[in-house]
Amino acid sequence: MNTFFDASSLVRGELKTLAPYDAPYFPEAVKLDANENPYGFPPGVLRKIFSEIGSRDFARYPDPRAERLRESLADYTGVAPENIMVGNGSDELILNIMLTFGAGAEYVVTPPTFSMYGVYGLVASASRVEVPRLADFSVDMESLKRVAGSRGVKVVIICNPNNPTGTATPPDEIEGLLAGTNAVVVVDEAYVEFGGETCIPLLARHPNLIVLRTFSKAFGLAGLRVGYLLAGRSVVRELLKVKQPYNLNAFSQTAARVVMENLPLFRERIEKILAERERLFSGLSGLPGVEAFPTRANFILFRTALPAKQVYGGLLERGVLIRNLDGPMLRRCLRVTVGTAGENGLFLERLRGVLADRN
Ligand SMILES: *Cc1c(COP(=O)(O)O)cnc(C)c1O
Repeated sequence: MNTFFDASSLVRGELKTLAPYDAPYFPEAVKLDANENPYGFPPGVLRKIFSEIGSRDFARYPDPRAERLRESLADYTGVAPENIMVGNGSDELILNIMLTFGAGAEYVVTPPTFSMYGVYGLVASASRVEVPRLADFSVDMESLKRVAGSRGVKVVIICNPNNPTGTATPPDEIEGLLAGTNAVVVVDEAYVEFGGETCIPLLARHPNLIVLRTFSKAFGLAGLRVGYLLAGRSVVRELLKVKQPYNLNAFSQTAARVVMENLPLFRERIEKILAERERLFSGLSGLPGVEAFPTRANFILFRTALPAKQVYGGLLERGVLIRNLDGPMLRRCLRVTVGTAGENGLFLERLRGVLADRN
């Protein structure tokens, strides 16, 4: 046995600083930390998925091109199938975008934003350039345009609506950015179904745009890992070189397609989430020492007078799991996912308890 072997000595310097992704796991808690859909999957849709999947499907490799799913996505988005690529969650697509375009170059993010961009950028050996958001969490578009126009920048990522702040960026502002850069501009629309404005109409005029979507939030398929992107032909051609042939398994391809064929059921759930979001927002805003930020997604960012760690821990002790986002850009901030009416009521009641218990 080689007792001198040290795997960490074999990896790149940047990887040494990276910690494996670890999500807190409290199966008993009310789970309002990951922006998932709180309503169980519609039983009728589940039955359809099972009846469409034959046992044969598991012995054969899945369709590498996911033709049928891409066709239903074409109906849903109005974008041609050849401009659509599917992924094992949009996480995989972010990594592939970084590997294809970002490796060895610069990519730009607008923090505070989704933390996985940074992880995949680092894994792909891309260098991060940050253009921080303004005090109201809107994108500093003038600075972003300037940075995105510089030669070393190959990828710009805007999360819209933004996780974790809930802020929307108007598509016409994004169009100004697209016109002034030769980098690919990724607009991550993971939450667009909750009231964001899509950049899809810009695809026809801007070959450097990538619109990124997921089934994990509005469509309740987080466990099956399905994401997709919409882009011009030349961008898709490059990305297909990097994509693993069988990245999306047969079960998930079928499930996502059946979801697309039953949209009204999911629209109903989205409407319920939007109504609950308003209730949760006014509930939060009405609490002393709490400031809630306006949101266009299925979560709410809020700031408390108490240290965020104390609020997070107090809620967890009371059986409610949310996200603590405290950091230099989000002082004393936490994020709560809009749950069912029962879950939101419970969260507000427990939060009231934590705030009252401050000494
Ligand atoms: C949740 C989320 C994703 C998504 O996820 P997958 O589950 O990998 O499809 C992508 N971007 C943002 C901003 C998210 O919050």
